[in-house]
Order: sequence, then structure tokens, then C-alpha cells
Amino acid sequence: MDTNQIEQLVKEQKIFFATHATYSLMFRKKMLEKLRTALHEYEPQLLAAVYEDLNKPASETYMCELGLIYQAIRYFEKNLDKLAAPEKVRTPLFLFKSKSEIMHDPYGSVLIVSPWNYPLLLTFQPLIEAMAAGNTIVLKPSDYSVHTTAVIKELVEKNFPASYIALVEGGREQNQALFAQPFDYIFYTGSPAVGRICMEAAAKNLVPVTLELGGKSPAIVDESANIAMAARRIVFGKFMNGGQTCVACDHVYVHESKVQDLVRQIIHQLNMQGFTIETIGKMINQKHYDQVASYLNDGKILWGGKCDPAKWKIEPTLIQPDENTAIMEEEIFGPILPVIPYENFEDLCRKIAQKPHPLAFYLFSRNAEHIEYVKKYMPFGGGCINNTLLHLSNENVPFGGLQNSGMGHYHGKYGFETFTHDKSVVSFSDRIDLPVMYRPYKKWKDTIIHLFLK
Ligand code: NAD
Repeated sequence: MDTNQIEQLVKEQKIFFATHATYSLMFRKKMLEKLRTALHEYEPQLLAAVYEDLNKPASETYMCELGLIYQAIRYFEKNLDKLAAPEKVRTPLFLFKSKSEIMHDPYGSVLIVSPWNYPLLLTFQPLIEAMAAGNTIVLKPSDYSVHTTAVIKELVEKNFPASYIALVEGGREQNQALFAQPFDYIFYTGSPAVGRICMEAAAKNLVPVTLELGGKSPAIVDESANIAMAARRIVFGKFMNGGQTCVACDHVYVHESKVQDLVRQIIHQLNMQGFTIETIGKMINQKHYDQVASYLNDGKILWGGKCDPAKWKIEPTLIQPDENTAIMEEEIFGPILPVIPYENFEDLCRKIAQKPHPLAFYLFSRNAEHIEYVKKYMPFGGGCINNTLLHLSNENVPFGGLQNSGMGHYHGKYGFETFTHDKSVVSFSDRIDLPVMYRPYKKWKDTIIHLFLK
């Protein structure tokens, strides 16, 4: 699609939105049901396409993507009426006689840009929330996960008119053309670098944005932790999808007394969970493979370290990083785990808090003070105590980053709110009118105003 076609598409969506069809809750529910049926129908193709793009096993794609997508549809089936209903709120006495309410309006036409690493979840989850909120939607999945994008395109085009839901294929050029359109909302998931470009372009039209970005999410394993359990859960969260998970634990800090124990347990878990160079997910493309492989030179390899350039695969690797190397500055987004010893918990936390705020944070500990410290003082988007990743599968908590890892959030009611404009309406009686606020101002009026506004 070229720029002219994109402009035309946005115009058509705005025309459709203006028919008010998407305001109907019945319409939204029917469309969500239609999406569920289409997803079921396309499930084999979707699972195969993700395997083709990322070498991701079907069980993992179901557990981490499709299953969560079905769950999101179910959530709105149960909660949409309640979430969308106009909300009656208290009215202060000085506004007598009136009543106040909040209307949960759809924004209009929204753009959703999604990345390649969880190409189903990160496209369909915001789509479902935007549909539930009553918007029309332009989807722009990644050009890197080509097979998955092709199946999603077919699914969307077969089931929805483009004036309601459309999909634009392409890369940088199409993104830039889309970012420049007068959408009513932009929801972007990807790297902080392109996030900045998106926000800059959106600012020109004063389009509000949510940015779901990445960064270096740390884990800490302190001296009180259950090391075997920590290793099992770190391996699960780090090496899934070849380490290409936005909330993967990027690197792990471990108390100096537990380094050897943790490394031994992680190696044991890599064997137990069957992570090898053969079974590991592949890097998405040559550029990303080269980037991740280069980090193998940034320290002493403790385990792994082999590469398969023909298949863009890197062996699950533990590394003791050298200081001031790229692996400790850039988001790794691959199956290499730096293990870094620390001495003092609070010193470490202070050091981490000065770095760009991460999307996720994981603490493995049985020490109540350490747990409290992290919950209270550490800045991060979301995280787990004694686990990795799983906070994102609870639809009752918001998901999103802050500062370098993003702005805004979604999932469950937070997603509905993201794609909704809360419009306040105060309705006055036209029979009773108190003269207090009108000119000419008088002493007795002042007295009453001071009585109510203090
Ligand atoms: P990316 O920024 O490399 O690419 C995003 C898209 O932008 C691609 O389609 C690409 O073609 C396009 N693009 C590249 N340069 C551009 C430019 N100058 N102008 C416009 N478009 C341009 O991101 P990615 O590789 O798709 O995703 C990886 C990043 O996404 C990681 O940082 C990861 O942590 C983050 N991420 C975040 C979440 C989250 O939920 N917060 C989820 C997944 C991934």
C-alpha cells in the first residue's frame, strides 16, 4: 500500500466510524465472536506460520499467544457491558441542580503497530481491546514475521471490511506513512528507537500514543532464594522464543555466595527443559543474528557459546560479562544470559534504579525486606517475585512500561480504558437556577461561594 492508499483507507475508516455502527455493544460482541471463530478456523495455519518465522513449538505458541488471545475475548464477553456503561458519579452541591456522568467513548480510528517476536499476541490482544472499546482499526504487523503476517492478513480480509479492520503490510516506509496520518490513537509495540519516531510523528497531529517498548529487564537472585526454583523459572523465561521476549530476563545478578550454585542449576535446567542449539528458537533475521552473536565476545563463556549461522541459531549461553561491553548496554533479545555477582542488595538496587527503567523486574528471594524494597522503591513496568514473565498473563493487572520502556498500558480493563475517551457530561435542570454565580457580585453571594468552595 502506498501513501495515497493509506490516506484513503484512513478516510474510509473515519466515514465508517461516523455511522456509529461501532458504538453498539451488540455489534462489538458480534465482531469479537466472529474473530474467535476465525482464529479457531485459522489456528493450524497460524501455528505453522509462527513455527516457520521463529521455530516456535506449537505448544508454546498456544500457551503464550493464542490461549491468551482467546482469554482476552472471553474477558470482554463477560465484562464489556459493565466497562462500557455510562458511569454515574457524585456531583458537588454547588452544582445544584445537576447530575454527572462519564461516557466511555471510542476514540475513532486507531493504528496498532506490532512486532515480530509474539506476532499473534501483540497484534490480536490490542486489536481485541480496541474492538471492545468500539474503534475502527488499522493493523500494521511486522515485516520480519512474514509468514504470520500473511496468515493474519488473510484472516482479517476474509472476515472484516477494511473500513472497520484493515491490515497494512510493509516496513519502515509504510510505518512512516501511517504515523503521519490523523488517527485518533496510535498503539505502538517495538523498540524505543522506532517508538521515538512514532511519537514525534504523532505529535504533529496531536495524536495520543501508547508505546510498548523494551529494554534491559534484570533479575536478582539473593542469598535467601530457592536457587533450584529460581534457575528453573529463569530458564523458562529467558530461553523461550530464543530469548526474543520483551519481558525476558535480560541478565541476572546473583549474590556472590550463590553464583556457582545458580550456574550449576541453570545448566541442569537447560538440560531438563531440553534447551539446545537444535531446539532453541531461531533469531528472526541475519541482522539480528549477527547482533546477538556479537555479544558472545563480551565476556567469559560459562556454558554454551556455539552458533549456527546457516539457521540463525545461537546455543543457550551463560556468560560472565566484561565491564563496559555492549552486552551490558544494549537489550540482548537472544539466548545469552549474563550472570553478574553482587555483594550488597541495596547498593545493587540503587545502581539498577539509575539505569533506564526496565519493562520488567524479577526478584528471587525469601527475604521479606528485600521483597518489600523492590515492590516499593524499584522503578519498572511490571514484574514478578520468585518467577519470570507470568505477570503479563494476568488480565487483572496492567501491562506496560515507563520512561525508556514505554508509556501507557493495556490488558483487561486497562486495555479498554486505553482505547476509550472518558467524556464527562454534567446535565443541569433548566427549571431551577441559583443566581449565586452570576454578576453582579454581592457580599451575600461571596459568603455562599466561600461556604461551598473552601
Ligand atoms: P523495531 O523497532 O526494530 O521494528 C519495528 C518496526 O519498525 C519494523 O516493522 C521495522 O520495519 C520498522 N522500522 C524500522 N526503522 C524504522 C523507521 N526509521 N521508521 C519507521 N519504522 C521503522 O522493533 P522490533 O524488532 O519489531 O521489536 C523489538 C523490540 O520491541 C525490542 O526492543 C522489544 O523489547 C520490543 N518489544 C516490546 C514489547 C512490549 O510489549 N513492550 C513486546 C515485544 C517487543
